Amino acid sequence: MTTPRADLEAALARQPRVPLAILPTALHPLPRLSEALGGPEIWVKRDDLTGLAFGGNKTRQLEFLFADVLASGADTVIAGAYTQSNWCRQMTAACARLRLSIHLILLHGQKGPKLQGNLLLDRLMGAEVEIVDLDSMEKLQPLIDARAEELRRRGRKVYVVEPLGLRSNVLGTLGYVQATLELLDQIEASGHAFHHLYQCGANMQPAGLALGLEALAAPIKLATVTSIRWSTPRGGDIARIANATAEHLGLQVRVTPERVNATDDYIGPDYGVLTPEAREALHLCARTEGLILDPVYTAKAMAGLIDHVRRGIVGRNERVIFLHSGGTPALFAYAEDLGLG
Ligand SMILES: *Cc1c(COP(=O)(O)O)cnc(C)c1O
Repeated sequence: MTTPRADLEAALARQPRVPLAILPTALHPLPRLSEALGGPEIWVKRDDLTGLAFGGNKTRQLEFLFADVLASGADTVIAGAYTQSNWCRQMTAACARLRLSIHLILLHGQKGPKLQGNLLLDRLMGAEVEIVDLDSMEKLQPLIDARAEELRRRGRKVYVVEPLGLRSNVLGTLGYVQATLELLDQIEASGHAFHHLYQCGANMQPAGLALGLEALAAPIKLATVTSIRWSTPRGGDIARIANATAEHLGLQVRVTPERVNATDDYIGPDYGVLTPEAREALHLCARTEGLILDPVYTAKAMAGLIDHVRRGIVGRNERVIFLHSGGTPALFAYAEDLGLG
């Protein structure tokens, strides 16, 4: 007689994985933040402390993606996103550790070519960086493909990480299915019941959490605060990524958009723009707990949580986990947006 937990553990154990993260990350209470909000009891899961080049959620995701990179026999990785991409920074760190070369093609985004934060770290860790001023991620793919061709002609064995590719999404999602098991163990050890799990995600992180929670029938409500506006409702896309991952794992369970529970309400004018509410959240966590959020993701998730507390969507007597997904190096590229004069 197997249990859902044993089935999930066995399915995950069959997935190739390269150790990169320092796990488990801590789960601890934030009593002064909880007090400042007049309840509920808020705890933080410290995935900003995964250990690889300032940490963050991408480290868990890359453990599965880089198993695929190594299996391909590649000596060079090509990827792209924005100049303040946490994904590219963590990939560069993984490449350094695994003795791979990495080429990044980066869009300006909100912070352009300023040598700060993630871009500074990419260069420090030896990435070959090209910065292009284009207005959308879709336009990156042809540039990445052309660079891959050029490097192959020069004899390199290239692994392309497509910016919006389903394969990298599914492999990365495994990281947060695994994280769900880790989190549920910590919840059990804490002896407390938790009612809500708040986090900011767009793809793999909420997909993995939703799938893990659903597979284990965990009685905890996931809230996904998104940071990027898409042309279609994101909950559906995230559920599709989760379900492609369920298929990859050979699991019967499926995720609905309701389980993902995504809200676009805290994005503000655009991806990567620090809203007044996110700035307030960032200041509040810094000044009550010495907990540093990032301007692009976690500050928006915390703004969402604070608003939901004020509106009674989260009860004053409930218990909440806030997943700190990292991104803190980007803060240094946002110095002038923090309202410190
Ligand atoms: C990338 C990122 C996210 C979103 O992760 P997805 O897997 O794309 O959902 C959240 N927070 C931080 C800090 C990130 O860098």
